[in-house]
Amino acid sequence: MRRLLPLASILLATSACTTTDVAVAPDARDPVMIAPILTSADALDTSTYAQPQVARVTHVALDLDLDFERKRVAGSALLDVQAAPGADEIVLDTKKLTVIAVSDGAGTPLVWNMGQTDGERGAPLTIAIGDARRISITYAASDADALQWLSPEQTAGGKHPFLFSQGQAILNRTWIPTQDSPGIRQTWEARITAPKPLDVVMSGIAQAEPEDLGDGRRAFRFVMDKPVAPYLIAIAAGDIDFAAIGPRTGVWAEPATLERARYEVADTEAMVEAAERLYGPYRWGRYDMIVLPPAFPYGGMENPVMTFLTPTFIAGDRSLTGLVAHELAHSWSGNLVTNAVWGDGWLNEGVTSYFENRIVEEIYGEKRAKQEVALDYMAIIETLEEVGYEAPGTALHQPDGTDSAGSAIVYNKGAAFLRTLEREYGRERFDAWLRQWFDRHAFQPATSLMIYEDLKTNLAGSEAEAERIKLRDWIYAPGLPSNVAKPDPVAFAEIDAASADYAGAGSIPGGWRDWTSAERQRFLQTLPQARTAAELARLDEALGLSTTGNNEELFLWLELALANRYAPAVSQAEAFLARVGRAKFVRPLFQTLWDQGDWGREIARRIYGETRSSYHAVTRSGVDRIMAKD
Ligand SMILES: [Zn+2]
Repeated sequence: MRRLLPLASILLATSACTTTDVAVAPDARDPVMIAPILTSADALDTSTYAQPQVARVTHVALDLDLDFERKRVAGSALLDVQAAPGADEIVLDTKKLTVIAVSDGAGTPLVWNMGQTDGERGAPLTIAIGDARRISITYAASDADALQWLSPEQTAGGKHPFLFSQGQAILNRTWIPTQDSPGIRQTWEARITAPKPLDVVMSGIAQAEPEDLGDGRRAFRFVMDKPVAPYLIAIAAGDIDFAAIGPRTGVWAEPATLERARYEVADTEAMVEAAERLYGPYRWGRYDMIVLPPAFPYGGMENPVMTFLTPTFIAGDRSLTGLVAHELAHSWSGNLVTNAVWGDGWLNEGVTSYFENRIVEEIYGEKRAKQEVALDYMAIIETLEEVGYEAPGTALHQPDGTDSAGSAIVYNKGAAFLRTLEREYGRERFDAWLRQWFDRHAFQPATSLMIYEDLKTNLAGSEAEAERIKLRDWIYAPGLPSNVAKPDPVAFAEIDAASADYAGAGSIPGGWRDWTSAERQRFLQTLPQARTAAELARLDEALGLSTTGNNEELFLWLELALANRYAPAVSQAEAFLARVGRAKFVRPLFQTLWDQGDWGREIARRIYGETRSSYHAVTRSGVDRIMAKD
């Protein structure tokens, strides 16, 4: 086991478990970086109760205990506040928190009020601050949607419990009382106590060795001295070890997973170097990752200095490491420059998906990068065909209240937009533009309108040119502008020919074993989707689909098989859905079963009855919506 960095700076908050022992010397704190708040109409976040123009949080100091038995975090949050002249209250976001006491920095109680709960947003916590610019909130979170407490059986080791958080989009208010809006950046620090032998990691730089408290617990300290969107505060705790990759990169995982994880992410240091060559310095210090148990609801989460990853990307051959490139790219798009409102999520995800592909090209070559572009393009077209080219949800910018048509739009259409600009202006000019976008908005929020104006001025150069490249349509209109850069038609020429051969003469592709994962995925997505049981059995037998160690391919096989009510796939799907909690896999498989009428619905209900409690709230809410159509 290895720690990260020696104590780099004096730790500032003392233990603040009660409201009376808060003894922080304000002068001892390094000056914190305070990020501006956007006040334009397009930056108004309707998912927060905060009124940052009146009073805003600039720094959060957490002092929390992890209680695995009660599945509860409890302790205090000490908030630094900046307030407009005459402001007498601050409004925070909370959801299902039990607030015990609120005081100023000197321990004098402050008057507070918990407002009405509104489903998604939770409840506003309004505190009369008077002259106080530091407030302490003592609280507990027992039912936090952000936190998933895993039993030992849900881990690879099977001996110790595990905890991880997922804050994006608006879940961190279920365990941290602060202003939970991506446009209100905050620095933070934390002291976390946890039972031995568990280790704790966070999305901040670890400070020194953990302190043994002598009561079977240890205290871990973390600091994030750069202002981040509060959804990026993240924690994980479990029986985990660390393996170094490069001078500033490494990976944490359960001991049973660590070696496979280290092998899979061995290209990470080279990826950081490639990313820096493309778009400027990596500004966060270390880049570490943690490979979580398979209950993690996402592929990855770009928590600063500590990317969270699903283990389902481990294929043994680094074929699915575009995921790591993606989370790393978020260190620029998303973490450095952040969407101010969730309706501009493409600024995080579309820009990152483009950047991801450029890193993949640098590390794995043009062929793989082009194939991944072609897969993404196919997903855009599928979504547009499904929901319609005029559907408002297919625009990149989503006005408040519009439902986005999904990740193929936010991620893939966003990336296709930047790829189109790259083709229009050439790499050199486009890369210089993107780099200046990151530089000029570093550690700040941004909106669609801001990138539109920036592109018009600094890349297109004129209104007429902006119109020629359909800048406004790309950002604000549904569908797909006609100047879209299409994928290289030869990227999958061989695979598409094999797919046609299979469709026509039933020939099983001989080259399958040598194909890349992208090629296999393409084949599975393009073969005729109506198959008999005999045809599916033959495919599985010849290609080993149901026994593959590549979860993307296994998922496509299960989807195909279930859509054809192939009985042998039911137990395979059941095992997969019991093992994996990644929403990208879980939701479509339940949807596929659901779409099969009585046959599939009965199976879906039976499996979900067993697996629901093992899923994170993010995954559960999606499947609940499918089941609610009963
Ligand atoms: Zn992302």
